[in-house]
Amino acid sequence: MATLPKPITMPKPQKPLPPPNSDFYELVETLPAEEVAVVKQVRAFMESKVAPIITKYWIEDAFPFELLPDIKALNIGGVGLEGYGCKGGGGLLAGLVAMEMARVDSSIATFFGVHSGLAMSSIYYGGSEQQKQKWLPPMARLEKIGCFGLTEPLTGSGAAGGLTTTAKREGETWIINGQKRWIGNAPWCDVSIIWARDLTDNQVKGFIVENKTTPGFTVEKIQNKIGLKVVQNGLITLENCRVPEENRLQADESWRDTAKVLRGTRYFVSWEATGCAMGAYENALKYAQERLQFGKPIASFQLVQDLLSKMLANITASQCLVVRMAQLEAEGKMTDAHAALSKAFCTAKCRETVAWAREVCGGNGIVADYNVGRFFADAEALYTYEGTYQIQNLILGKAITGLSAFL
Ligand SMILES: Cc1cc2nc3c(=O)[nH]c(=O)nc-3n(C[C@H](O)[C@H](O)[C@H](O)COP(=O)(O)OP(=O)(O)OC[C@H]3O[C@@H](n4cnc5c(N)ncnc54)[C@H](O)[C@@H]3O)c2cc1C
Repeated sequence: MATLPKPITMPKPQKPLPPPNSDFYELVETLPAEEVAVVKQVRAFMESKVAPIITKYWIEDAFPFELLPDIKALNIGGVGLEGYGCKGGGGLLAGLVAMEMARVDSSIATFFGVHSGLAMSSIYYGGSEQQKQKWLPPMARLEKIGCFGLTEPLTGSGAAGGLTTTAKREGETWIINGQKRWIGNAPWCDVSIIWARDLTDNQVKGFIVENKTTPGFTVEKIQNKIGLKVVQNGLITLENCRVPEENRLQADESWRDTAKVLRGTRYFVSWEATGCAMGAYENALKYAQERLQFGKPIASFQLVQDLLSKMLANITASQCLVVRMAQLEAEGKMTDAHAALSKAFCTAKCRETVAWAREVCGGNGIVADYNVGRFFADAEALYTYEGTYQIQNLILGKAITGLSAFL
């Protein structure tokens, strides 16, 4: 009679399990040495200072102001922008910084992206020389924090043709009226870039509005968010706000100039989404290596390995895509359609990846305590802000078909 094979028991690992590593194709190493050092500095800060406290702030819907001195000390304000006290470096460095931040927390990446990306680049691209000299150095030092006010309560995806906030010129002063919803950093920051329609020529213009000293400017914090809870989003009301002509972005003439800023920042959201997926994957892998079921680590199960492999494939595909985007950007070839494809693809893959990460953690993926729940919820906001998935695909669809599906 044939003897039955011995039951398989958990083999003793011969060597320690590999630590989770989501930079599988070693992208960081493609940077010049001094830029690798910046990325490593950001990673060390995120892991040592942000990771231990961020879940508590996330649960409480609060911003960790205690971290601001350390963020200032990183000296990365205006990364990717040259001159005016900005950090400089290329789009690849700026992207990798966004990715490293989001790998630990998407809210910190968003806070920084709104300030250093959206607000600062609005002035960088749309400001006069004098405006850049005045505003960018203190913003690069994070002494003045900025926000970007485009979306309105009744106008989101349709912002290009549908802004209802108005600007009326009276001599050397502009009178601005309207509301802006969802504006990140607005409840506490110093400077808002407000996009409004000029009543005279019907064109969209940008204004630098000082939150704390402009009469008629009020902000109400948006409550009860289910994602990116650390970012403080505001509903801004502008009631006969008087803004001097010297605070109108002098080089901006129309929506085309607003879109130029969005092109660059959508590219950054691709990096953030990639980082968010990396963080979820690393946390889920570590959990799977430690969590035992049926007497074995769940990471040893074939179906769990399938999920983890698909997650890493999503991440690696996104990383390769954003690195090529950085090359296009550096060559001055990045178009709205390039940025749209990148934002749509990376945020969709992020959303898929964080959902698999949550699945790997079982019930513990539903609570914030294991981090994965936070990545899972935050990915929803990345998927939607700076233009939804559908809007990105309409921009791309127009470019590849030559036919606009916009109304
Ligand atoms: C956490 C967070 C932070 C944000 N931060 C900022 C900020 O700092 N500054 C700022 O200005 N804005 C900010 N936003 C706003 C964000 O950019 C908008 O939410 C986004 O552009 C979508 O607009 P909406 O929410 O009004 O949705 P809607 O435009 O009402 O869209 C709802 C749905 O309809 C779909 N849809 C709309 N039009 C079409 C169409 N033509 N064809 C097919 N589908 C369509 C959309 O894809 C979406 O699925 C933030 C949003 C969030 C959630």
